[in-house]
Amino acid sequence: MPSVAARQTAARVAMTRRFGPAMPQRPGPPPRPPTLIESDYAHRLVRIVDQLRQVVQHELSAGPGVRLDDDSHQGAEARRRIKRARVAVDNEVAEQRLEHVARDYATRIAVHQRQVLKEQAEAALGTDVITLDAEVPSLIAGFVHENVALIRKLQGDTLGHLETLMTRAAATSMSSADLQEAIADRFAKAERHARLIAMDQSQKLNSRITRARHQEIGVDAYWWKHMPRIKPRPHHVARDGLRFQYDKPPYDGHPGTQIACGCLQLPDWSSVHQAADDVLPQVAPEDFAEPKPTLLGRAKKWVKNKLRIDEHGNVIEE
Ligand SMILES: [Zn+2]
Repeated sequence: MPSVAARQTAARVAMTRRFGPAMPQRPGPPPRPPTLIESDYAHRLVRIVDQLRQVVQHELSAGPGVRLDDDSHQGAEARRRIKRARVAVDNEVAEQRLEHVARDYATRIAVHQRQVLKEQAEAALGTDVITLDAEVPSLIAGFVHENVALIRKLQGDTLGHLETLMTRAAATSMSSADLQEAIADRFAKAERHARLIAMDQSQKLNSRITRARHQEIGVDAYWWKHMPRIKPRPHHVARDGLRFQYDKPPYDGHPGTQIACGCLQLPDWSSVHQAADDVLPQVAPEDFAEPKPTLLGRAKKWVKNKLRIDEHGNVIEE
């Protein structure tokens, strides 16, 4: 049983063929992954790591100086300070704020995907499609939940590793300079992790919203589109241009399922065309076989009849 959105879409496509400016099928626009939103989100998560760094530095430099290269007493003091940093992070980087950040980016991805779908539909069907977005709110809620948990875990893991680092530094009498370097390395790792979360999570959400909207409007298959990247999965490159059914995903899932998979789904509109055929069976093919002359087309014809034009499009002066 097709969804309400699928039936409305089919009806709209059929009406467009019947009465609308019957457009010949143009090649679809090139795929547009949400790259800018991804990098914005990465930037935002790196700032959260930066806040964490500031809290830790503040705690380590507060009060009577901890000489980190001293003895086990100093190690215990450093650990106490990391614990205080943990409390400070819990208080300062409030969960609500993280939720707000994640929801903001999820919404931007949903809006971006809707625009891409509109461009693709207009090129392939001559009209935009109807989306009710029945599934989208729960996909966004899932993204927010997962992202807040991932950022929390990133903060917790970083502090946990720093604590271990301090203890080991005290036990092995690591020099203060070496310890500072190790702390800087740990934060650099946290930043890389934050970027990976932003990229991976954005691509996953984009792929999930794409699938939900496709299926809602009656697109039941897609063409796999591999996006160039530094370390591509060879079997994803091999799938580029192949057609997959939504109800029969490849063994490792649809595009965007695997970690940091930037592959995309290009809609196969044949099922929508089929549904439109079923909606208005009385529409004769000749009704939409010839594109109706557009204003520009008529103007061009007029110019052609009136003026002599050379092969470069220049008017030949009489
Ligand atoms: Zn991929």
